[in-house]
Amino acid sequence: MVRVTVPVPGRAYEVTIGPGILRSAQEHLPELPGASTAFVISDRTVSDLHLAPLATAIEARGLASVLLLVPEGEEAKSLRGYETLLRQLAGREAHRDDAILALGGGAVGDLAGFVASTYMRGIPFVQIPTTLTAQVDAAIGGKSAVNLPEGKNLVGTFAQPLAVLADLDVLATLDDRAYRSGLAEVAKYALTLDDELLALLESDPAPVVARDVVVMESVIARCVEAKARIVAEDERDTSARLVLNYGHTLGHALERIDAFRGRTHGEAITLGMVFAAALSEARGLADGLSTRTDRLLRSLGLGSAEPLPPVQEVLRCLRLDKKYRRGMRFVLLEGVGRPIVVDDVSDDEVSSVLREMGAPA
Ligand code: NAD
Repeated sequence: MVRVTVPVPGRAYEVTIGPGILRSAQEHLPELPGASTAFVISDRTVSDLHLAPLATAIEARGLASVLLLVPEGEEAKSLRGYETLLRQLAGREAHRDDAILALGGGAVGDLAGFVASTYMRGIPFVQIPTTLTAQVDAAIGGKSAVNLPEGKNLVGTFAQPLAVLADLDVLATLDDRAYRSGLAEVAKYALTLDDELLALLESDPAPVVARDVVVMESVIARCVEAKARIVAEDERDTSARLVLNYGHTLGHALERIDAFRGRTHGEAITLGMVFAAALSEARGLADGLSTRTDRLLRSLGLGSAEPLPPVQEVLRCLRLDKKYRRGMRFVLLEGVGRPIVVDDVSDDEVSSVLREMGAPA
């Protein structure tokens, strides 16, 4: 078991990573002074698979355990879903010392965090991430959100949880595509922020792909440490936190064009990282980065069977991005572990790299 502190000034908290955490949740749940009920927000799939030991632990703490079910995946993150939860809390007379436990992937975590940070102006909450993406990324750093029909994550808060409990055993029930989607985020941390993690993945990717619990404990801990460092420096996403967007500028554009159908988030950011490596090389920043990136991603089983959309469509979408100023903004690498943010990328540079990657005109 590993504990990593997220040292956000004034609101530091611990992320506990290891096998069997839900089974021994009674030891790992933080103190909840004054609470009489723990409201577990989760979806049907996750609660059927993983709620029982958590509910037992809550009751062993002398608290009532109440399950509030939400729809699966992105559908959960709506204003309607948010209102439903607020009204369920109010209907059950939840008070300010009661706690919310978010048991699920990033979608459940984002919604539950938003509910917890706004119900009665904020009540305690704990993130219990059950996807690899949520364990290495979404549950860490305190960004909560719901979507509007006009766009993703347009409404939300910055609010840090009391603790994060990442149980490695729950990863066994994830399907391969969802697991690989999380591995794309792992690759992002390795390429941008952690040379040692990169060396570990390059020397022996097999146990990572096979979800080996011992290896994944240290892989996830390293990712959490990297994110914790960045979040502590820039909680509100104005400077250092931008590097966490490596691969995400193009990735988000592809997801918007696909309307979230054809590709997982991980598949989209995999292409984003291939693109960012090629652009870094084209700018003379990092020799050999593309080959190294391709090799790493392939060894982790990452790729996208979906063809790239036409260049003009991607450019149109990138121009709508809120990060568009002088030119387009991308996170590039001056070498592995050395991210830089550039905001003067021209249409021609983007088209030429996309064409090299096989996108039609
Ligand atoms: P998800 O939350 O959409 O969950 C995907 C599916 O996996 C759901 O159907 C769920 O039931 C299922 N699932 C979850 N855990 C499971 C398990 N252990 N076994 C079997 N099935 C399981 O997917 P995600 O990739 O975790 O999260 C994506 C969301 O996270 C997006 O909404 C994204 O915007 C958000 N996100 C937020 C941040 C942040 O900083 N707040 C960062 C990254 C992503």
